[in-house]
Amino acid sequence: MLTATTTELRRELGRWDMGRPGPTLLVLAGVHGNEPAGVAAVQRVLDTLQQRELAVRGRLVAFAGNLRALAEGRRFVDRDLNRGWSRGAVQELAARRRAAGAAEDTEQRELLAGFEQVLHSAAGPVVFVDLHSSSADGPPFLCLADTIDNRRLGLATGVPMILGIEETIDGASLEWFADRGIAGLAVEGGRHGHPETIANHEAVLWSLLVRLGIVDGRDVDLAPHRARLAQAGRGAPPIVEIVARHAITAADGFRMQPGFVNFAAVAKGALLATDRRGQILAPSTCHVMLPLYQAQGDDGFFLAKPVRPFWSWLAGVMRRLRGDVLLRFLPGVRRDPADANTLLVDRRVARWYATEVFHLLGFRRERERGGQLAFSRRWSRPENRRL
Ligand SMILES: [Zn+2]
Repeated sequence: MLTATTTELRRELGRWDMGRPGPTLLVLAGVHGNEPAGVAAVQRVLDTLQQRELAVRGRLVAFAGNLRALAEGRRFVDRDLNRGWSRGAVQELAARRRAAGAAEDTEQRELLAGFEQVLHSAAGPVVFVDLHSSSADGPPFLCLADTIDNRRLGLATGVPMILGIEETIDGASLEWFADRGIAGLAVEGGRHGHPETIANHEAVLWSLLVRLGIVDGRDVDLAPHRARLAQAGRGAPPIVEIVARHAITAADGFRMQPGFVNFAAVAKGALLATDRRGQILAPSTCHVMLPLYQAQGDDGFFLAKPVRPFWSWLAGVMRRLRGDVLLRFLPGVRRDPADANTLLVDRRVARWYATEVFHLLGFRRERERGGQLAFSRRWSRPENRRL
């Protein structure tokens, strides 16, 4: 744990900028206060950039997330700071009286001001990276909104990717950026407190800095970082997609069965967890993601299935060919007149084919709306194609 330094953390951990136009790598570290590994990693990267006075095109800007929770070494004080970033929640935050709010309200207001400042001052595309660690062991992995641009960036790091979490969780900080068409990755570096986790985060940051052309590839030796990530990710499928989320509340008495690591393969009927209603079994053969082994949190676990390379390739082709245009002609499907990125689906008609086809085309957010299902996809700014 980094208690000695985290008590003195400032909101802006640092920035490295020579005023030369180029992409911005915007890093958020420690949005969960019991996850200081990201803070240590980005500080290492900033230190190296400064000590070696490395020339950059574009810039690296890093913020600390939940300062008070980091100082106290817990996930959050009053509420999860990685929630409340949806459009509606941010408006509510702006309207809330300062004295009445949670400790995290102040943190979020400062972060919002910082993010806005970075976006306004950007002289090129922005890539957002949110650094986490988890209470379970297992390889590092990335969560991202399912756009082809995000997938391409994720693949460049060599770290296994999970599709469909961003769209399942309401109001993660990634959502605030996805709403703006900004490329973004959440990085799960490994288990809390494990030294490898810091090194994994650092390796991802260097890979991205070089991939984005912010740092010249000749100035950093990426080989050890790449080797580390390849080794850490061994055995995990390169891309999986979420097929189920087990949401919990404190009243559920949820207890994950011991011994699950991220990407753990389970057979249909395997015992995953228990709660006050009894046993929770795997509905099919799949991989367990983010099993909860800590007191605070509202996701018990996620279940995922591998995305075969053929489907990943097909997704790219279909989206380039604007396959979504065809979706509107399917029976029971129509475009939301108010939003080009949302399709309204009559579930009685479209149920049997909807989900798989829609996911393929990036429509992963599923919401009930007036008896219909609304499937939305994330959009990506045109400049992201150059990333
Ligand atoms: Zn976290």
